[in-house]
Amino acid sequence: MATSSAPTKPQWGPILKRGFTKRCPRCGSRKLFTGWFRLKEHCPRCGMRFERENGAFTGVYLLNFGVVLFLLWALMMVYVALLATSEGEPVDLAPIVAAGVVITIVFPVVFYPLATTIWIALHLGSADLSPAEQEEAEAHRTVPRDELELASS
Ligand SMILES: [Zn+2]
Repeated sequence: MATSSAPTKPQWGPILKRGFTKRCPRCGSRKLFTGWFRLKEHCPRCGMRFERENGAFTGVYLLNFGVVLFLLWALMMVYVALLATSEGEPVDLAPIVAAGVVITIVFPVVFYPLATTIWIALHLGSADLSPAEQEEAEAHRTVPRDELELASS
């Protein structure tokens, strides 16, 4: 295991990389979920509390919703492109509607865990743990501190 001292500022690179790979943005731990929708309260290795303040996970829904809106916009652009190149022929709407239903109903469910860890990463990168949060993480830490490669204090 590599050792590293705690950095003084959150390191965006590793934090985002870990968030986008469903890992703890602080230490890189996996297995943060006990079910598809159920996130553990604390990181199983570094002990960081994931929901750092009441309502913090509203951002997960915002992120998920924003990605859905972007995908629906992209789908509409596909439809517009099909219309523009159809030379007056009718465009079959069924596949567009089917894709829209999948994007609206299936995608947010599938994307939810990833949206959660990305949101936690964005939160950690923009606001490092407070001394009280660090203390709480220490109390829940299960791995010797020098075995953790922390991307924030
Ligand atoms: Zn962790």
